[in-house]
Amino acid sequence: MTDAPLRLLFVAPELVPLIKTGGLGDVCGALPPTLQQLGADVRVVLPAYRPVLAALSGASRVVPNLRLPGFPACALLESKLANGIDVLAIDCPELYNRDGGPYQDAGGNDWPDNPQRFGLLARVAALLGGAQSPLDWRPDVIHCNDWQSALAPLYLRFAEGARAASVLTVHNLAFQGVFPLATAARLGLPPQSLGVDGVEYHGQMSFLKAGLVYADRITTVSPTYAAEIQHERLGFGMQGLLVARSSVLTGILNGIDAGEWDPAHDPALAARYGAAELERKADNKLALQRSLGLAPEPRIPLLGLVSRFTHQKGIDLLLAIADELIGAPAQLALLGRGDPALEQGVAALAVRHPRRVGFGRRVDEALAHLIEAGADMFLMPSRFEPCGLNQMYSQRYGTPPVVHATGGLADTVVDCSAATLAAGAATGFTFTEESAGALLQAVRRAIAAYHDPPTWRALQKNGMAKDFSWARSAGEYLAVYREAVNGKS
Ligand code: ADP
Repeated sequence: MTDAPLRLLFVAPELVPLIKTGGLGDVCGALPPTLQQLGADVRVVLPAYRPVLAALSGASRVVPNLRLPGFPACALLESKLANGIDVLAIDCPELYNRDGGPYQDAGGNDWPDNPQRFGLLARVAALLGGAQSPLDWRPDVIHCNDWQSALAPLYLRFAEGARAASVLTVHNLAFQGVFPLATAARLGLPPQSLGVDGVEYHGQMSFLKAGLVYADRITTVSPTYAAEIQHERLGFGMQGLLVARSSVLTGILNGIDAGEWDPAHDPALAARYGAAELERKADNKLALQRSLGLAPEPRIPLLGLVSRFTHQKGIDLLLAIADELIGAPAQLALLGRGDPALEQGVAALAVRHPRRVGFGRRVDEALAHLIEAGADMFLMPSRFEPCGLNQMYSQRYGTPPVVHATGGLADTVVDCSAATLAAGAATGFTFTEESAGALLQAVRRAIAAYHDPPTWRALQKNGMAKDFSWARSAGEYLAVYREAVNGKS
């Protein structure tokens, strides 16, 4: 490769600030501008969902009529976001211009035509990465994200002529895009890709598997998760394939939006603070206790949690020990939505202990910020966690996390011990066994440290000094792109 800027097509199923359902949208919104700042020439392609069309109303129709076998006619719209990123939106009203979310209708049911909807996203990305592209701009690399864009490396591999290298990032292996095998023919996949060494997956087809087989490089969102998914427990059936491709698999931690998550400038806080003004956290604690109806106790440790309520997140482990924790004594500030049984369990806990347990049964960005600042410690008992963001936010907010040592949690939290404290490295508390008992033990250690102010201050300051910025991760992605270009098969 020459010194010319690397040209990158970033394939985004969702993209902040246009459309978001979760962390994937944050990554797609934050990584491209950081790469651009590092000198890459980046464009992002995404479906023109209804909110995207509305936001890009002034876009130019750079490719007015695109016909790809097996898909309805579409057009490509081009526009520049406020952050300088060029966006290419695939305008296919029949597939994308509708109410509801990117993947599901308003009732939470998957769109039945998702194979076509995301087949088209991948097909267009591959077209733009190949010799038949209708654009003059040709990427060196296309970077796909999750199953929704994972067919692109396959299309690209079987396209004629020069092609871009492909990189696939797995944000969560639990989501694989599995559909009946007959779907493959309708998507125009070549027959030689339909076997068990291609997209076939236990008699069905898997979009994600296509990407894992055909991408030149694979990344996932933390080094520990990259190792864990090569084993049965967290491999979700793909562990054999991931072992076979381990020489091209890298774990790169996500960054955080250090502007939005900055306790010195956070408008959602009662009192803003830096590492030299940690005593101001007390005002945030009081504001949090008031907002959730908790007793305004300054010295009882207040434990925070902000999460989707799913089996993955280990909310049931917390429920199993909650009464014991409250007796420690401790208070709990919990925010989240999800599985109705978990919501009901937490709601019942809050009814039993109204002055000790506060529950925000909703999505509330401002309360999430106040919990990060007002809690004394932050809980993440996730069974698995590809990267996780809240443990990084909480370290930045001087709120030591207590986490299950899995995935990105293991990579970003340094367990408190005499040795790690002496080295100035300790930032929180980790436990290794996936059990309520191990969680309880870790929280008990955290509570003991909380009552020892010098230890606690050291943990807070160590965490606040860490660099979780995107700039660090973006450099690692650039290295993977170079490897992909050089190692293209
Ligand atoms: P995941 O993507 O698996 O849900 P992450 O930790 O990577 O987990 O990111 C989740 C993000 O969503 C975090 O920023 C978290 O604070 C936020 N979040 C989750 N639930 C809520 C909620 N009920 N209100 C506000 N923010 C929430």
